[in-house]
Amino acid sequence: MHMMKLSCKDLKPDVDCAFEATGETATDAAKTMLAHARADHAEDVKDGSDEDLIKMFESKAHE
Ligand SMILES: [Zn+2]
Repeated sequence: MHMMKLSCKDLKPDVDCAFEATGETATDAAKTMLAHARADHAEDVKDGSDEDLIKMFESKAHE
């Protein structure tokens, strides 16, 4: 089984955060990242809807 991954550094290379979301699918990883972003990067994602952020995160998830 492969895992999809998405880290904060994938989204913003200069961010001071080592969090990496993983999941069986890009959607799983995106949902995990959304929860982290809402909690720890609230200012960066305050203008994005959950739907738009998940779409954007899914597009950046990788194996
Ligand atoms: Zn982070």
